[in-house]
Amino acid sequence: MPSIETLSTEHAITIMDSRRQGLSHAEAHQRLQRHGPNRLPAPAPDSLWTRLGRQLNNALVWVLVAAALVTVLLQHWVDAAVITTVIVVNAMIGLVQEGQAERALQAIAALVPRTAQAYRDGVKVPLDAGELVPGDWVWLDAGDLVPADLRLLECHGVSIDESMLTGESVAVGKSTEALAQPAPLAERYCMAYSGTHLVAGSAIGLVIATGADTEVGQVSQLVSQLASQVKTLKTPLLTQLDRLFQRLSMAIVALALALFAFGVWQARLPLDQLFMAIVGLTVAAIPEGLPAVLTITLALGVQAMARRRVIVRQLPSVETLGSVSVVCTDKTGTLTQNQMTLTHLVTADQHFQVSGSGYDPDGEVSPQPWHADVQRAGRVAQLCNDARVALSGGHWQVVGDPMEGALAVFAEKTRVNTNEWARVSAIPFDAAHRYMAVLVADPDGHHQIAAKGAPEAIAALCAHAPDDLALQIEALAGRGMRVLALADGPIHDANLSGVGWRGHLNWIGLVGLIDPPRPETESAVKEILNAGVEIKMITGDHPVTASAIAREIGLPDADRAITGTELDTLEPAEWADVARHYRVFARTSPAHKLALIGALQHQHQTVAMTGDGVNDAPALKKADAGVAMGQRGSAAAREAADLILADDNFASVVAAIREGRNLFDNLHKVIRWNLPTSAAEAGVIVVSLLAGLQLPISALQILWVNLVTAITLGLALAFDPARAGTMRRPPRAANAPFLSRADVVQLLWVTALFVALVFASYHAAVATGHSHAQAQTLAMNLLVGLEVINLVAVRYSAGGITMAGALRGHRVMWGCIGAVCAAQWLASSLPLAQQVLGTADLGLVAWLWIGGACAAALAVLTAVAQVRADALTTARA
Ligand code: ATP
Repeated sequence: MPSIETLSTEHAITIMDSRRQGLSHAEAHQRLQRHGPNRLPAPAPDSLWTRLGRQLNNALVWVLVAAALVTVLLQHWVDAAVITTVIVVNAMIGLVQEGQAERALQAIAALVPRTAQAYRDGVKVPLDAGELVPGDWVWLDAGDLVPADLRLLECHGVSIDESMLTGESVAVGKSTEALAQPAPLAERYCMAYSGTHLVAGSAIGLVIATGADTEVGQVSQLVSQLASQVKTLKTPLLTQLDRLFQRLSMAIVALALALFAFGVWQARLPLDQLFMAIVGLTVAAIPEGLPAVLTITLALGVQAMARRRVIVRQLPSVETLGSVSVVCTDKTGTLTQNQMTLTHLVTADQHFQVSGSGYDPDGEVSPQPWHADVQRAGRVAQLCNDARVALSGGHWQVVGDPMEGALAVFAEKTRVNTNEWARVSAIPFDAAHRYMAVLVADPDGHHQIAAKGAPEAIAALCAHAPDDLALQIEALAGRGMRVLALADGPIHDANLSGVGWRGHLNWIGLVGLIDPPRPETESAVKEILNAGVEIKMITGDHPVTASAIAREIGLPDADRAITGTELDTLEPAEWADVARHYRVFARTSPAHKLALIGALQHQHQTVAMTGDGVNDAPALKKADAGVAMGQRGSAAAREAADLILADDNFASVVAAIREGRNLFDNLHKVIRWNLPTSAAEAGVIVVSLLAGLQLPISALQILWVNLVTAITLGLALAFDPARAGTMRRPPRAANAPFLSRADVVQLLWVTALFVALVFASYHAAVATGHSHAQAQTLAMNLLVGLEVINLVAVRYSAGGITMAGALRGHRVMWGCIGAVCAAQWLASSLPLAQQVLGTADLGLVAWLWIGGACAAALAVLTAVAQVRADALTTARA
């Protein structure tokens, strides 16, 4: 095939065996079978060895390998075998868990919608980008991601950001003209390549390659970059914790070496036993299971959000959600249904009602007979319109913008027919100028302009506007209606980019459209406010409409709205005050959103912000949690966002915040459980060595306990559902330390309590005639019992749950506890295990003792948690 960039558009269409206005459904279907879906091949996963290498490369493993070597040199075969088992099992568990977490996140990345608009059977239809085939005609708007490699057939002011392919950061202007000769990719001005971004303009392109055949598909590095939206399993918090663990591990190794030296100097233990004790101490103290458990907790949180229709694109934002203190939201489609019905028309001298419901064109404009203005309004509504309504599955549905759909339905009701009219050019709607205008030719070839937009914007284009315009607007907007003005007029130079026509249009009238709030919005607003989170409605709509809707959804202070024009007059020093005190911001532009976020962040607020337009991208990036709309949103907004709401629904923001808070709670609980557990295991050995006491639990037994409990029990907490009251407390301060002082104090005394109980039990057992092996078995099982107790106590002390609830737990928790108990029972009673671990059978009294000690510990822990909770309540009051 010749280089397609050197062919004329006509020739390119022929070569691709396409037709004007694209393929038929049947042909597209056949080509899809032949070429396969328009998807990039999955990047090659890391090999098993690479992944295993990652698991084995950590401080703990190096300590264990060294220990295993020394035990081999000492010919302690059992110890060597146990240590090796610990290494292998740890690596295996880590491998499986990490693989699962990664798969879960990748699956969610695949949910990010990729849509395209293509002509099929001559009609523009929205499609999954995966269904595109060579020969398709694709429609692109500013903000769209180019879905396949395209030869451009039509271009209106197009510039494309091709930096990902060419490295050139400045967007390139495009045209439809063929190149004189083949040129490097960066200079193919009549082409658009898959994965690049339409920064401005609109275009129609002919698909020449899809999937792996595209330019980007041939660069495997780019493929993996594009295919995996979730790039890393790490978030700032996890990275911070990782660093903490590394430092902790280093400190533990240093402590272990010092203790070893101390032990050698004291010479109370034979060297090999001392060595094993030091190994046991090191392994117990290093929280090696923690990174895996934290990663899984995070992956579970992300999955829980996906179930609530929230797709996480940037993992760090998941953490941020827990501390969000302000939610900035747009109105149309997020708070409201985006189901528009045009119900009122107000012309210069008459007021009309429009009957009918939804997008069904059945309905009347009354009273009749009509004034000629009604037909003029209908004509403008039809001509200045990119949407259409169609009957699909027995329901009338809009293809395109819902508001334009409502205008198209209204036009039908006025019975105008503009089939013979042709559009010559257009100024597309832009949130910055708030109108849309088209230049059309009537059946006689006379040029005319049809325009619609925000009333102020249209009034500025007209020769005259009604004197009582403000009153007319208020009458409609006060009922929560979206108000739009219509105008038409002649044009002399047939050129929309000139200024000649501006200020000379003829005013036709206003239309009022209802767009009711989503049924879930009101309760979602209430829930967010209860959670101590502020809501700011930042809309492009009229202040009166915005206030009316704000009132309907229960936003306090709804009547106080500030407009973009007023914001423009503010001094920099006044922004902070305005950003804090107003809740309704109307007639704003994307630049205002950016400034408002800045002002809020300056006051240490953590800001979540929703957006859908191309121009919202900077604000979405700047917000701490940028939220794009999955359905309404432009690809540019989705690319810039951290989260995507698959259903565009404000209630999903609430779910995201709830899950974010829960995720944070669970991470916190995992750490609060893990640290005292590790510390108690290590503490038993440290105290014995320092005090020259008999080891109440042997080094091998400590290794075993660590192996059995580190990941299983901690993991149970990752599955905790959101507790009651999660959304009734204020957000966490973004700069609060992860562990509070109270947490650290608790960590210390719980460790001390557990160590004391273990020693006391060991000595009590020996004193009551148990053998050393039995006493050790008792102490080991008690330690595990206490870890389980700590699990329940951590759940309880996190609040929002009764003791019965904390005990009842959930299936995963009881599965984990059951597995640990079974393992302990085997370790204590299986003859082989007894031989290896030096355990012995325990009598009923010993088991009762363990149970009693655990119950006592639970009582102490819950009493303290209760006191702590009461103190907190009093402090808050
Ligand atoms: P929100 O920002 O809450 O989604 P919005 O949809 O009203 O609200 P914009 O899309 O910025 O915000 O629209 C601002 C105003 O521009 C609208 O209130 C309306 O008057 C006008 N407008 C919106 N869409 C069009 C359009 N397709 N053609 C002409 N005018 C439009």
